[in-house]
Amino acid sequence: MDERWSRRLAARAEARRAEGLWRNRPTLAPDASLRDFAGNDYLGLAADPRLAEAQAEGARRFGAGARASHLVCGHLAIHETLEHRLAELTGRPRALLFSTGYMANLGTLQALCDRHTPVFQDRLNHASLLDGARLAGAPSRRFHHRDLDDLARLLARAPGDAPRLVASDGVFSMDGDTADIEGLAGTCRHHGAWLMIDDAHGLGVLGERGDGCVGRAHGPGDVPILVGTLGKALGSAGAFVAGSETLIEHLIQFARPYVYTTAQPPGVAAATLAALDILAAEPERRARLFDRIARFRREAATLGLPLAESTTPIQPILLGDNATVMRWAGRLHEAGLRVGAIRAPTVPRGEARLRITLSAAHDDEALDALLEGLDACRREVTP
Ligand code: PMP
Repeated sequence: MDERWSRRLAARAEARRAEGLWRNRPTLAPDASLRDFAGNDYLGLAADPRLAEAQAEGARRFGAGARASHLVCGHLAIHETLEHRLAELTGRPRALLFSTGYMANLGTLQALCDRHTPVFQDRLNHASLLDGARLAGAPSRRFHHRDLDDLARLLARAPGDAPRLVASDGVFSMDGDTADIEGLAGTCRHHGAWLMIDDAHGLGVLGERGDGCVGRAHGPGDVPILVGTLGKALGSAGAFVAGSETLIEHLIQFARPYVYTTAQPPGVAAATLAALDILAAEPERRARLFDRIARFRREAATLGLPLAESTTPIQPILLGDNATVMRWAGRLHEAGLRVGAIRAPTVPRGEARLRITLSAAHDDEALDALLEGLDACRREVTP
């Protein structure tokens, strides 16, 4: 590599290290002995043998890879079946599979917006929504977190009847709180804006049937553009956009991250179908997850830990500065517990936190260990 480039990269790396923001990438062995409170496997499905078996069977029937993009010859019968199931789950006319949630958000915003179509985004939206607006060349206007008045003020300033889109996470990935879907839908209706909700962390967890914080409770009239991901509660991988026939056909034609990528491996689609069967057949998983959440919040509050306002599996401990977060995460790691240490730029500066995620797979012993570990941090590692 050219000397100047090497120096430039080294300087950026050094700056990130100096700020205490260097990111580590742990390599996990299959039998990793750490108790996991960092992943998004909310229903404990990622390691379910039924998903693994379905995946293997899908690969045997259709091949390990899809061989091509959807529009060429990669759209297999199993993808089509999965799209029907996802449309049915979310109460939408159609659904379209994407290979990842990141690409679903990029593709949707790029296909729907341009430089004349502002995207109004919650301040805490996921990076893929922000990047999607960039790919579209659309200006992003950020409204204060969950603040409908601020959103209405910004919308009122947008010129006349120009098209506009409001995008929000359904469950905020680093805070665990939920968007006010009804309020957003009402504001959008009033201001003639399209509403797009990314329910990556709600799908499989919230809603009467695990259909998410939008799902069947808020039909396409309220939320015309719904994104769900499959690599979190559903334990597999990929994502989908659900909405009207017109929306889906438009995405098939114009969403570049859909058109120009290889379709998801058919075994992954088969694993997702197995996960959807389990979601419907075993509602006790969600009940158990909510029992875990309630116990954690009750006992963490008793310990005086700085919890966030969250009733979802994402339970941040708001510590503030980077060094404290790293010390707590290190101490928990020594105790055999993996939690997320989240710092800028993933969250705003000064708002570093432990991101603790709960799962139906956590038994009482795991929760005991977590609460003991946190209590030890509180006593030994003062902020
Ligand atoms: N949206 C949100 C809110 C997310 O948290 C994530 C995952 N971090 C994504 C989208 C991206 O999904 P995927 O991991 O499938 O690309």
